[in-house]
Order: sequence, then C-alpha cells, then structure tokens
Amino acid sequence: MTMLADDPTAAALLAAMPCYPVPSQGRSPAIEALRTARAGQGLAVGHDGVMLILRRPWLALDAWVTPPISAYLPYGSAGTPRADLRCGLIPGELLKRILEHLRGALPNESAAFIFWNAVTREFSVEFPIIDEATPSRLVYHPPILRPDWYLICDIHSHAAGPAFFSATDDVDDAHSTKISLVFGRLDHASSPLAASRLCAGGMFLPLPRSPFAGDRHES
Ligand SMILES: [Zn+2]
Repeated sequence: MTMLADDPTAAALLAAMPCYPVPSQGRSPAIEALRTARAGQGLAVGHDGVMLILRRPWLALDAWVTPPISAYLPYGSAGTPRADLRCGLIPGELLKRILEHLRGALPNESAAFIFWNAVTREFSVEFPIIDEATPSRLVYHPPILRPDWYLICDIHSHAAGPAFFSATDDVDDAHSTKISLVFGRLDHASSPLAASRLCAGGMFLPLPRSPFAGDRHES
C-alpha cells in the first residue's frame, strides 16, 4: 500500500488524526474501528460533510466539522451526530455538593472538578487549590490526573455575576476534552444560572442535555 506521507512527522500527524472517505454503502472497517475504540479520533468524509469521530473512555462524540459538501462526492453518509456519556450520567448528589461549595465561597468565585475512574466507574469531586479568589477573578491549580482517572467536568462559579463563558474561559478550555460548566447568580435563593458546553476537538459544542442524573434544568 502506498503511504499517505513519506515524512515521519507528517505520517505521525496523519496517524494521530486519520481521515477516511466513507464508502457509498456507508460502512468501513477503519471507521467502525474508530467508532468502537476506547480512545482516539479521526475524520470521516461523507457526501454530507466531514464528521469528527472522537472517543474517550468516558465520551463518544460524532460531530460535524463542516457543512454538507456541495461538490459531487461518490461517498456515503458520514452518519448522525451524537454526544454520549459512556460514563453514564453524573450522580445528582455531586451537583448538590458542588453548589453548596460554590455558595459557601461567596462573595468570591470558586471551582470544582468531577473525575471519573474508567476501571471502577466511580465519580469523584475535588475542589482545587485556589491561589487567588475575588468576586470577579479566580486563579486555581489545574487538576492533577491519577492513572485511570479522567476529568469529566470542569466547573467554576461567577459568584453573584451572570453565567457565561468569558474570553479567559475560552482560552482555558481551548485544548481540552471535557464538559465545562459555569454557575452564576449564586447569591439568589432560587436555582442558580448555568452555562454549559462540551469542549472537544478544539470546538465548543452545546450539550444535548444536563450531564447530571435527575437534573431537569437544561442549560
Ligand atoms: Zn468564567
């Protein structure tokens, strides 16, 4: 078989993010292997667009990275987008604990991480070491991952401020695969405001639903 690249660096990049045309009948062993992999990523090129297929032990994501291709391509469909939590929904008690912690830090901002263990399939909550916290600024240590543990949710509060992703948040989230959550208006007795997104493949994607079990409030 002819190599796609003869330069070793170029070949390594193509191996890290392979790209497969979809055969007209829609099935391909290489794409199937990518979809069932424990971890990996690649692109499927269909007549209906280019799909990023990204797998982590906790996440199965198929997301369009282009609109349908207007040129004629004798290819099949790249499939249907999905964003499924392979780890299952996060127990609702963890959200309660986190909101208590964030409220306890008022008037300052605060943060929390949710990790998941791919071997035992348990979730855990950790609160980061904070270097500086004010009502509008937060500097905290990034999570330290132990073997088999994955960061699922990176959560911070905007204290009494509105819930949205700031330019600083965009920079912080740019290169990770995780769910990012911001809570705001925590000084109000009623339920706080939340903003959420899935960070993957350098994109910020809407979450189809709350990642917490029993959480009716869609963000
Ligand atoms: Zn923020």
